[in-house]
Amino acid sequence: MTRAFRFDRLFIGGEWVTPIDGGVRSSIDPATGESWGDVAYGGPQDIDRAVAAAREAFEGPWRRMSPWERAALLRRFADLYAASVEDLAQVETRDNGRAIRESRGDIGLHAQYYHWFASLADKLGGRTIPMDDSVHAFTSRLPVGVVGTITPWNVPLMAAAWKLGPALAAGCTVVLKPAEQTPASSLALAHLFEEAGFPAGVVNVVPGDGPTAGAHLVAHPQVDKIAFTGEGETAKTILRTGAETLKRFSFELGGKAPHILFADADLDQALNAATASAWTLCGQSCALGSRVLVERPIYDEVVDQFRQRAARVRVGIPQDPATHMGPQAHQQQLDKTLSYVGIGRDEGAELVTGGSRIERDGLAGGYFVEPTVFAGVAPDMRIAQEEIFGPVAALIPFDGEDEAVAIANGTRYGLTAGLWTRDTGRAHRVSQRIEAGMVWVNTYRYIRWSTPYGGVKQSGWGRENGIEALDSYLETRTTIVSTTGAFADPFAN
Ligand code: NAD
Repeated sequence: MTRAFRFDRLFIGGEWVTPIDGGVRSSIDPATGESWGDVAYGGPQDIDRAVAAAREAFEGPWRRMSPWERAALLRRFADLYAASVEDLAQVETRDNGRAIRESRGDIGLHAQYYHWFASLADKLGGRTIPMDDSVHAFTSRLPVGVVGTITPWNVPLMAAAWKLGPALAAGCTVVLKPAEQTPASSLALAHLFEEAGFPAGVVNVVPGDGPTAGAHLVAHPQVDKIAFTGEGETAKTILRTGAETLKRFSFELGGKAPHILFADADLDQALNAATASAWTLCGQSCALGSRVLVERPIYDEVVDQFRQRAARVRVGIPQDPATHMGPQAHQQQLDKTLSYVGIGRDEGAELVTGGSRIERDGLAGGYFVEPTVFAGVAPDMRIAQEEIFGPVAALIPFDGEDEAVAIANGTRYGLTAGLWTRDTGRAHRVSQRIEAGMVWVNTYRYIRWSTPYGGVKQSGWGRENGIEALDSYLETRTTIVSTTGAFADPFAN
């Protein structure tokens, strides 16, 4: 690593401060199960300080800057980000165990998100509404104000980019609270905002526990919006906590994505995508196709290919560039994954391969688990309905389009979906019937700054990325100006 980041302070009001009612605690390296260093975390009083700083910046210097001045700062930050990819990737990999080759690839794209939103900052005009000659009516697009962003442990920097890009482009200020398990990379991010020269208080970073610091941020009357990525159950708690202040919410929640392989697919390509989709990020991504729906004529071949390809996955120390799959990000997630392996067995699914913790030399202290495949999975089994968030593929057979669609839509989730077929008509037919915010055809997990991303059903509210992302950081004000100033006396006669 070339850049020295500090992790033992909170970033509030442009300064590195010691927590008032938090402290400093060890952060665990999931590859060893041991502490790699101390990281600051805040409590409710620290959140109060951060919100006050964000409010002051919003009412003061940030609001006074023109949109193109704000965009210029965001571009400077994006350039610093691009120059820091390796440092940020190393921090994130140490904190959440993601294989370094994946961290480099993913984080290598983030600067573009910030650049893209910067390019929209001075194009957020309203519109003129045609009326009769007596009035001039127009709309303005205004920032919602102070945004509390709450992010998960699996992709901390990506979740931050998806929120901070549009929030800052819209003219909002931000308090970022990363997940308690993986706070370090968000503090590294704060260094880049400081170096880019953002006015004090525009971006504040306060790691902390969800039920204390997070809940306080959600309840805070001076916070106008919460942008949250995490579990659906947490979102429901957040809604209840935030109800008193009726603030705005956007939610990116869980998924149980169907990845549908029709018998006429280019099977080799489909298998590349389906296996990548099962084991990337050690299965810890909302977008992954954890339910693999396979048309019956190719089912046995697909099961066999999954078995063979699982054996090729190199599980290892995440900093090793040869490693394909690192550990689960924390002990609780490891326990959850292993418990679902037991559930799958009890439900009668066939464990084709994997399913155990890896305890060989060099990996025994970490939270490593084998790439896992279940065959003979019925659509109503818990391993086909519930988000496991581990490297566990559930292979479900189907017959024909109607059954594929019924199974695909048969969960409470609706985030992403994939389908593989050489039949163009089928590609369009089926993709239109899938209940999901994002459908990929003959590709998978292709996500960019310009493509709206988000869920239907219990996978979320609102969209991140794309110009649609800006909607939830803006309010529309309508102004109506009389061209005559005449207003009839209603009580004249
Ligand atoms: P989580 O819900 O446990 O935690 C997410 C964040 O919420 C953390 O920062 C946590 O501290 C905070 N939090 C917890 N309780 C809180 C409370 N009462 N009030 C306020 N904040 C609180 O989720 P996780 O386990 O960190 O992340 C995994 C989940 O995130 C999975 O369900 C995954 O599918 C989802 N996810 C979704 C997307 C998406 O784009 N849709 C992306 C990544 C992850």
